[in-house]
Amino acid sequence: MGCDRVNNCQTALIANGFKVYLAKDRQQARRVFFEKIFPDHKSDLISWADSLTMEATGVLADLQADPTLNRINTFDATAKRGEIVERRRQALLADLFLTGTNAITSCGKLVNLDMIGNRTGAISFGPKKVVLFVGRNKIVHTLEDAFDRIRNHAAPLNAKRHNMATPCAQTGRCHDCRSPQRICNTWSILDKCYPSERISVVLIDEDLGL
Ligand code: SF4
Repeated sequence: MGCDRVNNCQTALIANGFKVYLAKDRQQARRVFFEKIFPDHKSDLISWADSLTMEATGVLADLQADPTLNRINTFDATAKRGEIVERRRQALLADLFLTGTNAITSCGKLVNLDMIGNRTGAISFGPKKVVLFVGRNKIVHTLEDAFDRIRNHAAPLNAKRHNMATPCAQTGRCHDCRSPQRICNTWSILDKCYPSERISVVLIDEDLGL
């Protein structure tokens, strides 16, 4: 299973201390999570950050539908903004934190860009374990390719998706704006996973997310 690009990325991630699960598609990624990862965390405090890839696997819907789950819902549409910010602060102390990544270089570095920093922060430090759901389209060659992918592809589409009044939402390219709704404020680059295997990457051989 898997193209060379996915397999080579898996090898590089493992060499950098990340734990890697391969999935041939989003359905298998969901099974991987619930059969291989979740059983060790059923009673843990779980939270998550924005990730279309995680949503596409169905994992988020399943977790939200589980009344027994000890969770912090940081995307509760019924909660006020102040409450959401407070929940995102609390989520930094979750036992298990789920999200995606904006890019992975072919040598196994994770690259992310956040508006607030709740996702980049949690990926770097705080939650005991982190699971990232990642489609093959996030694999790029170099760090420069990762920056370009994020600035001129993922960020403009995310700005548009969240109805932000930014120039990129209109043009599809980054203008390094000064908009109050700028979604690009905090970069993170993970060269290695520390402690080793704190972060699991579910690498999916399918194009998913932005
Ligand atoms: S810096 Fe501004 S223009 Fe550039 S991608 Fe981010 S929000 Fe869009």
